[in-house]
Amino acid sequence: MIPYGRQSISEADIAAVVEVLRSDFLTQGPVVPRFEQAVADYCAAQFGVAVNSGTAALHIACLALGVGPGDWVWTSPISFVASANCALYCGAQVDFVDVEPDTGNLSVAALERKLAAAQDEGTLPKVVIPVHFAGLPCDMQAIHALSQQYGFRIIEDACHALGARYHDAPTGNCRYSDITVFSFHPVKIITTGEGGMAMTNDPQLAKTMRLLRSHGITRNADDFINAPDGPWYYEQQMLGFNYRMTDIQAALGLSQMANLEAWILKRGELARRYFEALAPERLTRYFSPERRSAFHLYVHHVAPEQRAQLFSQLRDLGIGANVHYLPIYKQPWYQRWAPGPLPHAEQFYAGAITLPLFPGLTPQQQAQIYDVLSPTL
Ligand SMILES: *Cc1c(COP(=O)(O)O)cnc(C)c1O
Repeated sequence: MIPYGRQSISEADIAAVVEVLRSDFLTQGPVVPRFEQAVADYCAAQFGVAVNSGTAALHIACLALGVGPGDWVWTSPISFVASANCALYCGAQVDFVDVEPDTGNLSVAALERKLAAAQDEGTLPKVVIPVHFAGLPCDMQAIHALSQQYGFRIIEDACHALGARYHDAPTGNCRYSDITVFSFHPVKIITTGEGGMAMTNDPQLAKTMRLLRSHGITRNADDFINAPDGPWYYEQQMLGFNYRMTDIQAALGLSQMANLEAWILKRGELARRYFEALAPERLTRYFSPERRSAFHLYVHHVAPEQRAQLFSQLRDLGIGANVHYLPIYKQPWYQRWAPGPLPHAEQFYAGAITLPLFPGLTPQQQAQIYDVLSPTL
């Protein structure tokens, strides 16, 4: 089976992990801060806080921004459920903003309309979480301008978008957001097995997220609230979690960073071939000087009534097609909050079919995929 996405693991990656296994630290030790620094340097962000999943990063990002009961968090319905679950973990309420019909990214026009209505009703969001779907950055300048006007905070869900660029600067630099979150799940751009990271330029947010990832405990004497009663003293100052990344994971991530730029270029090349063969009219949207997609996914659109049959045809040939995503508000868990159907999200989902895309995919494998889809063009 050609999967829709898969990790690339080199001998250097394996050696880096083995080195940690032979060292004194298995859980969070000296490699975690090195990995955090490597990602922060790549993204031109001040701080990176490594945790054990992208979901954990979204959770502590919401908490650090003060999300709690009575607050609203808005996100995109065309995303993995974790983009919305993080708000529910904090006791907040979730609502969804419709997407752009062509990219599946949060629509600025829809956001603007929804904010104006929410202002009248007194239900403005505390946080908006735009998702860089498939790796293409959202229109962050416009979303940031709306945040200034309406007073909400921004978490970029960049779980698809490590390596993306927006206006010639790396996604993750938080120029237009408070916090940006990455995932290192094996199908994502680089992997640590499981893992995630929250980027920020705000020292206070970084400090709070570091506390939250490790039980709310600090051992830093400068930060103590009470007087220490001995050199063993530490303090729990808030209700945190065990969301720590291990040095084993960080070593893999740090080693993977060496390939990041090459992988993004390779993904871009493979995606360009797909567009040229299957959807040339969409090329300019995805290859512009303004934005570089990280091309986590290649989502093709077919006539909705043909999708199930094409999906099965691909699967029967050992081609691991997939679908990203059923709008989150259609999940049974979310139906209790169900907003009215969002027309562009529904339309985007109806014909979407994800084709395999990862650095190890070959042109021969791509050609096999065109053979199935070309007759439908
Ligand atoms: C993968 C993903 C997450 C969650 O990341 P994990 O590391 O699997 O917890 C969140 N949001 C989006 C958009 C994702 O694709």
